[in-house]
Amino acid sequence: MALIVQKYGGTSVANLDRIANVAKNVIRVKEEGNQVAVVLSAMSGETDRLIQLAQKAAPDPDLREYDALISTGEQVTVSLLAIMLNGMGYKAKSFLGFQVPVLTDRAYSKARIQTVKKNLVLRELKKGTIVIMAGFQGVDNENNITTLGRGGSDTSAVALAAALKADVCDIYTDVDGVYTTDPNIYDKARRLDHITYDEMLEMARAGAKVLAPRSVELAKNYNVPVYVKSSFSSEGGTLVTKETKNMEKEIVSGVTYDRDQAKVTVIHVPDRPGIAAQIFAPLAKNNIMVDMIIQNVSIHGFTDLTFTVSKKEVNEVKRLITRAAKDVGADKVEVDDNVAKVSVIGVGMISHSGVAAKIFEALFKENINIMMISTSEIKVSCIVEAKYTQLAVTAIHEAFGLDRGR
Ligand code: ADP
Ligand code: ASP
Ligand code: MG
Repeated sequence: MALIVQKYGGTSVANLDRIANVAKNVIRVKEEGNQVAVVLSAMSGETDRLIQLAQKAAPDPDLREYDALISTGEQVTVSLLAIMLNGMGYKAKSFLGFQVPVLTDRAYSKARIQTVKKNLVLRELKKGTIVIMAGFQGVDNENNITTLGRGGSDTSAVALAAALKADVCDIYTDVDGVYTTDPNIYDKARRLDHITYDEMLEMARAGAKVLAPRSVELAKNYNVPVYVKSSFSSEGGTLVTKETKNMEKEIVSGVTYDRDQAKVTVIHVPDRPGIAAQIFAPLAKNNIMVDMIIQNVSIHGFTDLTFTVSKKEVNEVKRLITRAAKDVGADKVEVDDNVAKVSVIGVGMISHSGVAAKIFEALFKENINIMMISTSEIKVSCIVEAKYTQLAVTAIHEAFGLDRGR
């Protein structure tokens, strides 16, 4: 008997028919003699709808209430699945984040899980109950409801699997695995049978939304095998795991894009020690993640500082940075949110040269201008104009020989 955590995303629970399909799959795995804990997202589009409602109610909604609202989509799906399973004669119980409890910090709308208390869930599983936990939500130490950030049910599922020491965490979604690039924007993308935690982590951080980055971090830290599968077909699947001997050693494993990017430039910044610290401190204080940073060569003691942040936070960033820029005596702040980040990921890069050059050449051939570049041991990212996203991805995918049927 194995303990299996299954997670179903928004499209997999989009309506009653789809939930019935989930029920069938849960029952199949349960009937095979396993203990099953299920984590669900809200119906697809529901979290977006709730976010829009909050923004209509007030332009800058109070974050405590915002989380209380946007976490409700998951309450609908978990209780519906439990009702359905009970109606089919199976013992099933739904649990919201606070009932488990899934304890988090208080960073509303991007809370981090501190612990998942396993006792209640384990007790139910031992009784033969199918446990159905709401993804995306938790509770802080003063009983405030928190949410984990978009795509956060993946994180809920892996955190639950880690707490329960589950044998596997199956992530059911609308594609049948992890591909070399988003199969929905390029039909020549290839499905990968295996991918290492490190590569998946870089792909997720660089925008491949098939898994939330934090879920991969947790999977790696707690050694949880994650299997990405289709809700709609039993074919395919990608295992995310530690490196194994027989894994293909490609230089590049994937190309990703992230449209959730905004470029911020602080112009004519005095070039002296402590200035960068002063500019970035307010962002850190407000839990705002800064991605790429470049500083131009200084001319006559002044320089320009450019960095990228999530588009969702750009208004707050502009407000904070405009104040900081004034304090340090910079000229002005410019924001461009018409950009996207295209990244190339592969552990093989560590031992191969020429990867960056090949990317630049592929983009040059398509006449795509590169606005910013950043590199790590296993990733090269470029900021390009948003309208070139798909063209850049396909050109790079092809240049590295990743296309299917080669
Ligand atoms: P869910 O609602 O099940 O969590 P998501 O929409 O969050 O599903 O993630 C699945 C989507 O991720 C796919 O529909 C696909 O468009 C996208 N995606 C992006 N990059 C990749 C990739 N490299 N491999 C597979 N899917 C990807
Ligand atoms: N429902 C949440 C969202 O849309 C969480 C998730 O789907 O993982 O972001
Ligand atoms: Mg998702």
